[in-house]
Amino acid sequence: MKEDKKYLLQTYAKNEVKFKRGINATLFDENNVDYIDFTSGIGVVSLGHANKSIAKEISQQAKKLIHTSNLFYNDLQVKLAKKIYKLSGGYSCFFSNSGAEANECAIKLARKYGYLKNKENKAYDIITLESSFHGRTLATLKATAQESFHKNDFSPYIGGFVYAKDIDDIENKINEKTVAVMIELIQGEGGVMAQDKKKVQKLAKLLKKLGILLIVDEVQSGVFRSGNFLASQSYGIKPDIITLAKAIANGFPMGATLSLHKDVFVPGDHGSTFGGTFLASRVALCTLKNLENLKKIGKIDENIKLFDKKLNKILNKYPNLFVSISGMGLMRGLKCKNDEILANIIKKSFDKKLLVLKSGRQTLRFLPPLSINENEVKQGFKRLQMALDEL
Ligand SMILES: *Cc1c(COP(=O)(O)O)cnc(C)c1O
Repeated sequence: MKEDKKYLLQTYAKNEVKFKRGINATLFDENNVDYIDFTSGIGVVSLGHANKSIAKEISQQAKKLIHTSNLFYNDLQVKLAKKIYKLSGGYSCFFSNSGAEANECAIKLARKYGYLKNKENKAYDIITLESSFHGRTLATLKATAQESFHKNDFSPYIGGFVYAKDIDDIENKINEKTVAVMIELIQGEGGVMAQDKKKVQKLAKLLKKLGILLIVDEVQSGVFRSGNFLASQSYGIKPDIITLAKAIANGFPMGATLSLHKDVFVPGDHGSTFGGTFLASRVALCTLKNLENLKKIGKIDENIKLFDKKLNKILNKYPNLFVSISGMGLMRGLKCKNDEILANIIKKSFDKKLLVLKSGRQTLRFLPPLSINENEVKQGFKRLQMALDEL
């Protein structure tokens, strides 16, 4: 820990623990003490830790071919894109390495779309929502409408983003400069807030009528987290552009920008050295196949029901600590009475060897592996109750 402070740039507030290994939703520290993981990283390892099929695919592909540049054909990348095309119902892909990169690509795609539509008087503004989160690059920071993310330390930021208070306010913010609206259907950092389905469908219809692109940032809510492959599918909409990352390759870095507009980019418009390597594509393929299977056999829906039941119990048992339950699928939140209570719950849970997350100012966030087993769920909630009983 001392060397961490010396050799690493200090950008994270870290917990005092060193994990050595894991299995499914259980992590072990250097003393072999077990922790129940209700975080999956931050919604990343949806198939759990040390998944055997993932390990096998990584090792086999590493012995064959890890990387060529994207100037050569890559059959695994095509196979993955074809899989996503089928799962999503007709989207084509660009592969990168993270959520922020997937969103950068979406922003470029939208701006080029605006340019092609009207070269003399190009529309380029993208409307985003307060309490959104879209990433840490200079563009995605500015897309993130929370003022706390636009510190003077890092200015100047890029322009072209307009903020709306909420879904209802988006219509008021639209003008002739608007090229796209970018939203999360379930806000990950903004209090695990699931948007209203009817309002979202109404917005999607309005944008289609106006010829404005709808970009949905599913970096956290996509890849079966909402209960379906896409959160957009859970909402019954078909956005123009969807971004994915976190869970797409179970912890192997990958981002994907999905688009219905295939003819906007031409060679040279965008690129990525590492995007969609043989290795990354194979791991993502394996991840998607496994998650698709978990969905088919009913395991994901079973876990969603189980979590829902447990969270409702907690809400009812501790009315002095919590005010409401939020989210969708296995992306859930318990809103606390205040931010101090939230900080205490996270700390006490950690003491009881349970990992949970914070979201927004006062929401306790749950992002368990989709593959979590019943025993891990029970054990995790037992530890949570032990923590809450002390508050
Ligand atoms: C995590 C996240 C991002 C950023 O992803 P990185 O891989 O950290 O760049 C963007 N949007 C949402 C909704 C996220 O949850």
